[in-house]
Amino acid sequence: MTSTSGTTKGRAWRNWAGTVAARPLREVAPASTGELAEAVRRAAEDGLRVKTVGTGHSFNAIAATDGVLVRPDLLTGIREIDRAAMTVTVGAGTPLKRLNAALAREDLSLANMGDVMEQTAAGAVSTGTHGTGRDSASIAAQIRGLELVTADGSVLTVSAKGTEGEREIFAAARVGLGALGVVSALTFAVEPLFLLSAREEPMSFDRVTSEFDELHAENEHFEFYWFPHTGNCSTKRNNRSAGPLAPPGAVSGWITDELLSNGLFQVVSSVGRAVPAAVPAIARVSSRALSARTYTDIPYKVFTSPRRVRFVEMEYALPRETAVAALRELKAMVDRSPLRIGFPVEVRTAPADDITLSTASGRDSAYIAVHMYRRTPYRSYFTAVERIMTAYGGRPHWGKIHTRDAEYLDGVYPRFGEFLALRDRLDPGRLFGNDHLRRVLGG
Ligand SMILES: Cc1cc2nc3c(=O)[nH]c(=O)nc-3n(C[C@H](O)[C@H](O)[C@H](O)COP(=O)(O)OP(=O)(O)OC[C@H]3O[C@@H](n4cnc5c(N)ncnc54)[C@H](O)[C@@H]3O)c2cc1C
Repeated sequence: MTSTSGTTKGRAWRNWAGTVAARPLREVAPASTGELAEAVRRAAEDGLRVKTVGTGHSFNAIAATDGVLVRPDLLTGIREIDRAAMTVTVGAGTPLKRLNAALAREDLSLANMGDVMEQTAAGAVSTGTHGTGRDSASIAAQIRGLELVTADGSVLTVSAKGTEGEREIFAAARVGLGALGVVSALTFAVEPLFLLSAREEPMSFDRVTSEFDELHAENEHFEFYWFPHTGNCSTKRNNRSAGPLAPPGAVSGWITDELLSNGLFQVVSSVGRAVPAAVPAIARVSSRALSARTYTDIPYKVFTSPRRVRFVEMEYALPRETAVAALRELKAMVDRSPLRIGFPVEVRTAPADDITLSTASGRDSAYIAVHMYRRTPYRSYFTAVERIMTAYGGRPHWGKIHTRDAEYLDGVYPRFGEFLALRDRLDPGRLFGNDHLRRVLGG
């Protein structure tokens, strides 16, 4: 029931994958930065912790709270488009799909995107959500400025052009893990709308891994999926194109995106869960069913696709030059184990960036992501994968499943201490803390 200014009694909260549940004491849905700052001050006075959620697309408990849950549903929409600076400023809770559509209507686009666009803008960047790119990096790397409500209710506006102190906050708060404050608005760099040509093509594991460096160097956006228990991969190369627009045909698009990636995949995943021994045979048949196709469309339609089959995921960022060796180890581990893995392993890349705790901070990276169908036992698989990834100095995705703690993370992030020192200054009382942050940040 609503009491004052959008405050209600907390309802049970669950993440998208259904792996994390929480019961906040109360919820608030501020409609302005001022109301948000007031809600933060009130929570502090009441001795309650504060957590803002996006769409709950994180697989771990980073967004969970037993205190005050801030819903960003009213902090949405485009605040300003600056065509001289080529930037757009949006409310933090704006879903990426709404941002993409609004930009396209204005003949504008972000440079790069992840696989889906359900997440909120602030939720996506706070854990370092990324797609794949040779030159263009994560969504957070496309931010030019942001507005942050800190633990004492102050509203800070920071960018790379500010004072030294503002620049330090900007470097950290772009991938802020929800630990530095509540982001109320974000300013993204945008480009004139462009076209991308996608080439999807099956390829053998041996060929992709031996030609990985060339495939990465020759394409603006290269990624591939390897199907465990097979030697088959599905590759995707996206490059800017002068056109013409040639979207996937309605039928072929439906077959690939809806039938193979969602409908049939749902059935196959359910069968695999019921009869694990059938998984390798299913993987061989289904990975061979994929065929080559080429299409040209506006960026977000090429980068993203719907994901209706629910799964759990672990993803590690490795120094790019070690990715092939790590993937070969992963394949050898699956081949000699009794594990039955029905979901493909996804490999993507990102150039080094300058964000304090970005998974690509200061190093060219490749991402290796493993998935399991929801409610299928995943721990032994993920544990074995994590052992391989950590041996290469891997950095776990901040929003996905992993078991690393602050001591490990301090060893793989040269600027970890810088982030902790800033957090101590901005949130000494851990108003924005939760159990998950205590583990990964150490306090
Ligand atoms: C189907 C699916 C596909 C995915 N694809 C990709 C992908 O391609 N690439 C990739 O890198 N990741 C991917 N992810 C992971 C996902 O992008 C991240 O977990 C992302 O953080 C989720 O955004 P969200 O809006 O749901 O935020 P939530 O998961 O709700 O929250 C994430 C974090 O952001 C914080 N937060 C949210 N809003 C604010 C705010 N306003 N101010 C401060 N902190 C805030 C929360 O407190 C929490 O710490 C995928 C996840 C799913 C389920």
